[in-house]
Amino acid sequence: MAERIDGRVRADQVLAEVQTGAMAFREATGRPPGLAIVLVGDHPASLSYIRSKEQAATKGGLYSETHRLPATMAEDALRRFVGRLSEDERLDGILVQLPLPETLRQEEVLAALPPDKDVDGFTTLNQGRLLAGEAGLRPCTPLGVIDLLRWHGVSLDGANVVVIGRSRTVGRPLALMLLEQHASVTVLHSHSQSLAQDVLRADVVIAAAGQAGIVRREMVRPGAVVIDVGINRVDGKLVGDVAADVADVASAMTPVPGGVGPMTVAMLMANTLEAARWHY
Ligand code: NAD
Repeated sequence: MAERIDGRVRADQVLAEVQTGAMAFREATGRPPGLAIVLVGDHPASLSYIRSKEQAATKGGLYSETHRLPATMAEDALRRFVGRLSEDERLDGILVQLPLPETLRQEEVLAALPPDKDVDGFTTLNQGRLLAGEAGLRPCTPLGVIDLLRWHGVSLDGANVVVIGRSRTVGRPLALMLLEQHASVTVLHSHSQSLAQDVLRADVVIAAAGQAGIVRREMVRPGAVVIDVGINRVDGKLVGDVAADVADVASAMTPVPGGVGPMTVAMLMANTLEAARWHY
């Protein structure tokens, strides 16, 4: 039976480290690191995500403020709003919760964020820095995945890692960050022809497709480590991308919920502290 890689336990450790760092920052500067959360509309999953981010900010000793804006807001007005927030010196990080309502273009809105306050790491400049191997704010979910693997003692150097998913926010940056750790990375996506065979070769399987049960037991090499990023609602229940019986063959596996999700939120707080240190 696979060992459970408990994201809640690790996320609490990360938040405790953030709290220590935030206290030292406050002593040095007279203010805590600050995070603004911007939610446009009332997407139900987003409402629950921002609640956990607010709670984590409190745990991490950060100042946070949440701005709830109407779904009817015009793109220009939202860009100006984000621009005003970015001039506020109490705020080191600004997070625009995605997805935005369909009337708003995500790229245009993200472009209004200054890269040094882009704690989600989604702006073009920060993504380019990742590609170039330069320092910058990295996306939180991939950061959380890498941290969990390190915490569990998984060596990535030379390991065969399969990432399922190539989105701009998860799969693609994660593949680049795994390369930085010297892994041999295979990225699979909706056009891939040999998913089952490719997954079977992996020492580490990371599923970020948003397809419940896409990773089945017979696809996983006995002893492989499996990280489940997926969040899917099936019959009113939250499940990941990995079938439950994969735990019979994997050596270690993250649960859903309680795996990568809490890590994403904790890494957002770690990024906010890092941004604050740059601002000081
Ligand atoms: P996305 O829809 O933007 O991308 C999904 C990717 O999976 C695409 O690249 C697509 O090509 C690939 N894919 C889809 N179906 C596939 C298939 N049948 N075979 C192979 N590849 C396939 O989604 P995303 O934003 O990258 O998120 C992926 C999943 O991770 C979602 O379930 C999302 O809810 C979850 N997620 C979780 C966290 C967290 O903190 N745990 C954070 C972000 C996203």
